[in-house]
Amino acid sequence: MSTSQRAGNEMRRETGFVTIRAYAELNDFLRKEWWQREFSCSLTGGNNLKHIIESAGIPHTEIELILLNGLSVGFDSTVETGDRISIYPVFESVDISSVIALRPEPLRKTAFVLDVHLGKLTKILRLLGFDTEFPGDVPDEELARISAEEGRILLTRDRMLLKRNEVTHGCFLHSQNPEEQAGEILDRLDLRKCVKPFSRCLNCGGCLEPVDKGVVLHRLEPLTRKYYKEFSMCSICSRIYWKGSHYDAFIKLLERLL
Ligand SMILES: [Zn+2]
Repeated sequence: MSTSQRAGNEMRRETGFVTIRAYAELNDFLRKEWWQREFSCSLTGGNNLKHIIESAGIPHTEIELILLNGLSVGFDSTVETGDRISIYPVFESVDISSVIALRPEPLRKTAFVLDVHLGKLTKILRLLGFDTEFPGDVPDEELARISAEEGRILLTRDRMLLKRNEVTHGCFLHSQNPEEQAGEILDRLDLRKCVKPFSRCLNCGGCLEPVDKGVVLHRLEPLTRKYYKEFSMCSICSRIYWKGSHYDAFIKLLERLL
């Protein structure tokens, strides 16, 4: 380190700075000049760890592990001038729960709530059999409330939504393509072994139950009545499903995703 660099570091220490390094895809949230390197952050906005990290651009829901001077800490930690902060994303398929001090416990079930821009992803997740809520055009606080109270993972491309304190489990979607977004979720949460295709209603997310043809006969179009034998019905909205014209396209989609 040169004399001028050392002088610069000393000055940053005096005016209240910490050093941050973000790893892997967390760099996507940072200004380009901070990518893949250490950078300094001012403490002028306070010394709460969560606030400092989110001020740099990274929503807390995207973070799995924070090391403060080498030790795993929680979001409510306080930092001091000269501290070194390392931030790691959610690790795919790797159980590091024994070394994490960030969240009290994982969610018991896998259930989602999606923001209004993710209608197509909602249908894909329901097709895969996941409990998926799509409340439509509601205020951010309502999405955050559903996520917190019902233990649902909030999916969005809105970083500000994920920075809300009440959202403890959320995923930022990097892609704008619904099929790629589904792939991101399956990878990040390691969900491929939990997929149960054709078990949920694409319309409302309710569970599908097999139903005798005779029970729904009066609701079928003549050709459907003639060519199909097996039917299932949504337990909530009573929509009827059979392996009709969309079935092959769904199978191809599943093959691409799984
Ligand atoms: Zn339904």
